[in-house]
Amino acid sequence: MRILILGGIGEAVTLARTLAPVHTVIYSVAGKGRWPDLPCAVRSGGFGGSDGLALFLREQRIERLIDATHPYAAQISRNAARAARLAQIPLWAYRRPAWRPESGDDWRFAADWPALMVGLREFRRPFFTIGLEPLRRWTDLPPEQHWLVRCLAAQAPATPHLTLLCATGPFTLEQEIALLRDYQIDVLVVKNSGGGAVEAKLAAARRLAIPVIMLDRPALPTADREFDSVQRLAAAL
Ligand code: NAP
Repeated sequence: MRILILGGIGEAVTLARTLAPVHTVIYSVAGKGRWPDLPCAVRSGGFGGSDGLALFLREQRIERLIDATHPYAAQISRNAARAARLAQIPLWAYRRPAWRPESGDDWRFAADWPALMVGLREFRRPFFTIGLEPLRRWTDLPPEQHWLVRCLAAQAPATPHLTLLCATGPFTLEQEIALLRDYQIDVLVVKNSGGGAVEAKLAAARRLAIPVIMLDRPALPTADREFDSVQRLAAAL
């Protein structure tokens, strides 16, 4: 079968490796991260919206579209749903299970940026690990707060109230504990990216009894079949 995998996360790479010996697989990335080393065709960059993706599906005679993108990459998931309809092929999706709090965790939830700003009012030194949004919105920074922002690569805005750390994970529990202590962090801001193990930053927050605010996941379109494991998805093909 000719399959297009929309990827960009580790499990999507695993899926491509599993399917490549049996199917004709094209693996697609947005082009912001590392180039994956895969035994199948890899393409990089946007398609030009859902119409462009539908055209690609037709031109490449794709028979099955698999959305294995990050749970917060909502635009490409919406495009995938529309493009699969236009190209009249089934859409399957890998949907990562969300993380759940354990006893002792102080997890709070924010629907969007304004709700997050309200949730942060009682804190002074938040640590943001939600990508570039705090850098785009740094003018919302109240004078009594200091923000620590970690992302892959970016330029810091001109304010002494924000420290930018450009770094690529994974990070160890020891590294995360040291960071939270060094910067006197009093709240951690994360996406509920989910997946297998809970990330070290969440374990570090638990260890130091630091509250966590999670940005809610965006609503995603329904696929023809949805899986919470790429192994189960591969087995169903
Ligand atoms: P997004 O907002 O949903 O997508 C923005 C645009 O990027 C899409 O409209 C599409 O451009 C292009 N695009 C996204 N994923 C693509 C893919 N796999 N192949 C080809 N084009 C793609 O996505 P995002 O949140 O910027 O994330 C970009 C990529 O990084 C995704 O593939 C995702 O799996 C990965 N990622 C995201 C996060 C996160 O927190 N958002 C974390 C880890 C990894 P066109 O409309 O031009 O086709």
